Amino acid sequence: MLAPAAAPATPAPPPALDANGQVRPIYLTPPQTLSGTGPVIGIDLGTTNSCVALLSNGRPIVLRSREGYNTIPSVISLNAQNKLLVSHRAKNQLVLRPTHTIYGAKRLVGRPYDSAVVKQVRERFHYEITPDAAGRAAVRLGNDVLSLEEVQGIILRECKEMAETHLNQKVERAVVTVPAYYSEPQREAVRKAGTMAGLKVERILNEPTSAALAYGLNRELNKKVLVYDLGGGTFDATILRIEKNVFEVLGTGGDIFLGGIDFDNLIVDFLLERFQEKEGIAFSGDGIALSRVGDAAERAKMALSERNTFEVHIPMLMMDDGGRPRDLRVMMSRQDLEKICDPLLNRTIDVVRDVLLDSKLRAADVDDIILVGGMSRMPLVREKLKGLFGKNAQASVNADEAVALGAALYSGSVDKVSSVVLIDVLPMTIGVAMPGGGFKRVIERNSPLPAQRSFAISTSQDNEERMELSIFQGEDNHISANEYLGTVRVEGLPKGPKGSVRVAVTLKLDSECVLHVEAREYSTRKEVKATLATRYSPEELQKQLQVSKEAMSAAEERRGADLKDRAGRFWGFVKKALGRGK
Ligand code: AMP
Repeated sequence: MLAPAAAPATPAPPPALDANGQVRPIYLTPPQTLSGTGPVIGIDLGTTNSCVALLSNGRPIVLRSREGYNTIPSVISLNAQNKLLVSHRAKNQLVLRPTHTIYGAKRLVGRPYDSAVVKQVRERFHYEITPDAAGRAAVRLGNDVLSLEEVQGIILRECKEMAETHLNQKVERAVVTVPAYYSEPQREAVRKAGTMAGLKVERILNEPTSAALAYGLNRELNKKVLVYDLGGGTFDATILRIEKNVFEVLGTGGDIFLGGIDFDNLIVDFLLERFQEKEGIAFSGDGIALSRVGDAAERAKMALSERNTFEVHIPMLMMDDGGRPRDLRVMMSRQDLEKICDPLLNRTIDVVRDVLLDSKLRAADVDDIILVGGMSRMPLVREKLKGLFGKNAQASVNADEAVALGAALYSGSVDKVSSVVLIDVLPMTIGVAMPGGGFKRVIERNSPLPAQRSFAISTSQDNEERMELSIFQGEDNHISANEYLGTVRVEGLPKGPKGSVRVAVTLKLDSECVLHVEAREYSTRKEVKATLATRYSPEELQKQLQVSKEAMSAAEERRGADLKDRAGRFWGFVKKALGRGK
């Protein structure tokens, strides 16, 4: 549960940067080299919780944390003595030290500070988000600035240490899972986080594919399955075809602003309405009181997955005008909960229908349903899916552990010529910027990976020696609403009048969705140097591509409105906790 508002953070000194303009790690000492040998572990690096698994005698097992839990909160915090805390101990600081407690890093990692998602998140997270020298989002913790790779690295280091304690040996290799919709820079950021934690990320695996592996590896199946993943903050639906050990994604979709917290927000509204009815006064407690209601709402939601009624009791929730303490005491039924949750769950079912359409399948073509994420424990989820598919979801898969177990299973094939074949799809279209800011689509979303497409460009000036091409990812027709991946610089072109030198540019996505660029000059057929290293600031890009301010802000508004609509629901509760909502 998110914490109430706190006093604004005192200004901290600018971030310490290394030679490449990156924020220097403070809590991690990245190793010079990683041996690349030894055991490989599977890590589900989650938004809310993370989970570690490994193969033991050929079977995947989930490891327990120091405190005895199968998953650890993906939270880090600095306590009053300036000591860094991780996982459960860090989560305990959320209410006490909200500005010094970092959660939800998975939403921010690998994203530009100026991106619409970061803008939305920035207004509402209690810790400070700041740009690094390269314009990426970073966070302040106490007097320091940390890159999000470092935050994720600290959580990965905790996972690594859990495995080392269990195995009683050094662990330097991992398979790490990421959401299917993660963009290329986000995947790269996860690799870097691994290295910072002293882990070589041998494979990046998409979460739904990983859950499907946990369900179907070595089972000689021939099935189409739906992975329905409803977690704390996001929702994803993916359809895969499993043929023996070939796992092929047919379609994927989701909503990055729909998860358990949205359900909790609605339950908070319900509880406060009941409180007003019973007590005859409106709730006027402070942020702490509201966060107690939030906690109680989440507890009620979880309890009602198991039972039909639950009494929510919060003693001394607030003082009335006469200075008397008032309790909140509400008897809630599963029926109440289901009525509240129905619209949100219908939205997930709409996404599932879209994914069916994208996959060119009917509901009857799906053989099995795999449930992932804590929220999928809600009985109404099963009911809704049964309504659409006419069958029950699989009971054999553990919703919290499936993704990590799949990663552990896959870790078994890292050192072998693998008999497992994974065919993923590109989650969002990749294309190039046109002068004026148009977006030319090059590799369409849902294309099977690996994928490659070529296109021609020619010089626009006499004797031009180098050309640049900016690459974006997203579905809008204008670049400003899409994510900037970087600029390709094509160098060493032969001299000639404008338009006479033509270059074939090839964008290649490998099976892990990592983007490579190649360029070949037409007349000589010679390869020319093409690097995807340059990153311009939004202002530089705007100038280079001659994008008008009007077009830019129209596209940004489009994207902002879309996010706002979804984020509004997501952050309703937090706003209230900050005392800015109703
Ligand atoms: P995850 O991100 O997969 O760890 O899921 C966390 C979300 O699942 C949170 O919103 C929890 O409140 C919710 N959750 C966990 N267990 C249950 C349960 N038994 N019933 C309903 N929701 C749950």
